[in-house]
Amino acid sequence: MLEQLTSILDNVIYLDIETTGIDEKSSEIIEIGAIKIKNGIITTYKTLIRPRGRVPIEIYNLCTGLTEKELLGARSLNLIKSEVLEFLEDIPLICHNGNFERRFLEYNIPEIKNKILDSMELAAILEPWKKEFNLDSLVKEITSLNKNELHRALDDCIDTLKVVNSLLCRQWAREEQNKKKKTLYFILNNDYNYLKKWGWTKYLLKPLFFSDEDYPYVNYEEYSKDEVKLKKVEIDYSLYEELLKHEDIWNNGGDFGYQYRKDQKEFSKKIRENFEKQERIFIEAPTGSGKTFAYVLIAAIETYLNKQKNRKDDSSFIISTNTKELQNQLIERDIPTILKKLRLDDKLNYGAMKGKGNYLCIDRLNKCESLEFDEKGNLSLLFLRRLCEDGKYGDIENISYWAQKHFELDKYLKDVNCDSEQCKLEKCIKPCYLRTRYNDLPNENITVINHSLLSCWPYCEKKKINHIIIDEGHNLMEKCYDFFAEEFSSFEFLELLDMIEKGHPSILAMLLNLNASFGFRETIEKDKLNYLVNDIIVNINILINDFRSMRLVTGEYNFTTEFFIPREDLQGITKVLGCEISVLKESIYPLYKLINDYISNITQDDEINGDTDYKNISDYVAKLKSAFDILDKFLEKSTYYAKILEVDSEYKTFVLKNVPLNVGELVNEQMLKEVKSTTFISATLRIENSFNRMKRHLGQNNAKEFLIPSTFDLKNRTKIFALNNVGRYDEPGFIKKISKFIFNTAQKLNGHILVLFNNNARRLAVNEELEILTRGTKIEVHTNKKSIGALNDKNRIVIILGSKGFFEGIDVPGDALNCVMLDKLPNYSPEFPILRAITTYQKKGYQDVNYPQLCIKVKQIYGRLIRSTFDYGYFIILDPGQNSYTIRNLERDLGGPNIELAPTNKILSEIEFNYNNWKRNNINIILKNLKKNNKNIEQNFNNEAKKHKMFWELYKIENEQYYFKNMNFKLKGKI
Ligand code: SF4
Repeated sequence: MLEQLTSILDNVIYLDIETTGIDEKSSEIIEIGAIKIKNGIITTYKTLIRPRGRVPIEIYNLCTGLTEKELLGARSLNLIKSEVLEFLEDIPLICHNGNFERRFLEYNIPEIKNKILDSMELAAILEPWKKEFNLDSLVKEITSLNKNELHRALDDCIDTLKVVNSLLCRQWAREEQNKKKKTLYFILNNDYNYLKKWGWTKYLLKPLFFSDEDYPYVNYEEYSKDEVKLKKVEIDYSLYEELLKHEDIWNNGGDFGYQYRKDQKEFSKKIRENFEKQERIFIEAPTGSGKTFAYVLIAAIETYLNKQKNRKDDSSFIISTNTKELQNQLIERDIPTILKKLRLDDKLNYGAMKGKGNYLCIDRLNKCESLEFDEKGNLSLLFLRRLCEDGKYGDIENISYWAQKHFELDKYLKDVNCDSEQCKLEKCIKPCYLRTRYNDLPNENITVINHSLLSCWPYCEKKKINHIIIDEGHNLMEKCYDFFAEEFSSFEFLELLDMIEKGHPSILAMLLNLNASFGFRETIEKDKLNYLVNDIIVNINILINDFRSMRLVTGEYNFTTEFFIPREDLQGITKVLGCEISVLKESIYPLYKLINDYISNITQDDEINGDTDYKNISDYVAKLKSAFDILDKFLEKSTYYAKILEVDSEYKTFVLKNVPLNVGELVNEQMLKEVKSTTFISATLRIENSFNRMKRHLGQNNAKEFLIPSTFDLKNRTKIFALNNVGRYDEPGFIKKISKFIFNTAQKLNGHILVLFNNNARRLAVNEELEILTRGTKIEVHTNKKSIGALNDKNRIVIILGSKGFFEGIDVPGDALNCVMLDKLPNYSPEFPILRAITTYQKKGYQDVNYPQLCIKVKQIYGRLIRSTFDYGYFIILDPGQNSYTIRNLERDLGGPNIELAPTNKILSEIEFNYNNWKRNNINIILKNLKKNNKNIEQNFNNEAKKHKMFWELYKIENEQYYFKNMNFKLKGKI
């Protein structure tokens, strides 16, 4: 294979290492591989290194073909050092994700002083629009090699070499196609002088006698998944949801695995009727009922038919979701697939619309260049500039996570994202992504947004919301408090004061400009402005000092309280702090007045409205006024608002919030005022078997309702336990006891466990305990959401420890997830400010406020377990608390079996029995189905099992006996 290698670059070494972990101080290098290209001659080097410590089992799984025997027989690091150094000479090293190699080499072989070039960084600069830059995705996307990363040092070097060749070939091909544009090499040497020294710059010059025939594996196309070819079918769109019966439409192309479900048709029908009658409806549709399909179908057909009839108002739908994951799934998978199957993909437009701050501003980015950054900053700006040059990118959320971290984009994004209350989008003539999206809006038939944007829909001039589907609607219950809250943040306000005093251009410079342009008479006295700004800063600091001297913060958490209803021992704070907040408020007014008076003097001139300086100053005025008003409202006790004071745990900042308690009115006034039809959808909208609480809360008492019953046999395919022998979550010993229980359960179930925590400190403490318990075993413990995929590997024994962010949106069907645990019931703390305000002002009981949110969260968590009819498993509440009211109500609302209070040993002794029964049951179902359809069992079983995400494999049938295997079990015998 090596003889066939050709490298564009000469006098470089491709190097890769395999290690026992990611931390260079606690992990070791176990393999080094390198390819040297020196004066056109290619030589290679590879060695294993004997580790001193333990090698985690996942490393053997990860590194293809690596065995413990081989490793233990290898030479030690000390013995291979000199030959490594001799091979590397002082030639530059190319590593993929070079920072990783740099850290490990510096720590373990500090004698290596070679310059390191990162091919991942090169990929990000050359093709910044990609979502992933890891070696595996690059091999798949920019080469035709069609292989997986082996995670062996020399193999990965070969892949890196081919990736670098491909990146350069593709770059030069793009430059060839667009000869009018300057080449990147030219730009870096002439326009961006500061990047001349960037390690990759000199390699970007196309060699004189370059021939791309030497690199036949380069994929010059933009990566796209194989297009599925569809047969021509006639579709009668006037059938609407009846089309769901036509399996030929949905299985056209053979990639959908569609089966008709009556409930799904009923569901679609309700959405259509709601649209046509212009009403509001709440629909609870359980997981797996095909809800997205059901509503996208109606949105597509209704918009298409109404578009044909020129009914503009009815030819567009808005779909609002809570999570980014669902938004992406809709835009990248569900909507395009359904439109394609319906043959409407070339007739309807769709897209996602985000808040302004999510878009890159090309204008601000251009201006940013004048700011002085260090070399790293300049590279980050180059990355962003190249993103913009591509012309179709602008969505900050879609920038790869690795690139965000590597280029430290968080530092710059606030300077280069859209920050314009001032830009008149309609008239803006600058290249501007937001304007492009904004102008697309009227022609879009399906627009996907999120709930937060819906709460203030800033694009109403361009697109009126006529018909909306609010998916994940249950989230509005708590989120609406945030959406409609007004807040004064000391941090943001200090930033505003800083801009007023020292911004570029300064307010004084802006006023001078206005003087020059509009003949304005006076200008602000600098000293007065500084005096007023300082006065406010002093008052903010006095407050922060007061918080500190009152010792409001205990432990590592931020302090939060209802300002007028604090807990017993803090009753005095309202009076003391009220005076200080009032002084702060009063000190804002003179500054507001000073600037407002100046600006008011020149508003006679019409032309001034288009002036940037005028807009900037007006923006300051509006923000000062708003801060004054929020503080004014905060200080007034009101039964309609919770007044919340938050102080950060380090006493650096504080926030004062006015949170409206009757959010229903605001939902109607601000979200749905002119909307014709609204569909609220979720798997968890009902509380106490009724939609009433949710409807009341969201101000939708008259809305219709529809329930799709669960098709899953929750009673027989799940078991719910609550532990009664590990004590309360805050008692000493709890962490140790539950860690032991999680560990024992993982051994019984071979992992595939998700443990969810209400509190991150508890999650970390359990992680620490499990690290000790799992040492020397094959059990892996992960805390990162990205590791969820590890559950799907039948050969790995995985426990995932998740925080609140894992309560929703985790979708792991089949054998991959068979146990979900929850550390404690998600009760509101009695100190939770909104709860205190509601119970005090609206005279409601604690459970009245607490239970609805708890019920929805626990239903969501339980829902992680069952995603298809083949799913099964345990839901275990580690600390159920002592409130039997909650447990009884949950039993009713979860719709599963009774919640069994049991000690850990009882659960552990039963667990294997149920687990095997559920698995046998699934095997039976598959076998019966295959027999019923006269399909050959031996040939089809494993495919069917795989389709339903089951790990069992049939490996032989002998004398009518079926032999199955997975990693620990062998099941023989006739089923
Ligand atoms: S609207 Fe204005 S600030 Fe926003 S991206 Fe466009 S040009 Fe930039």
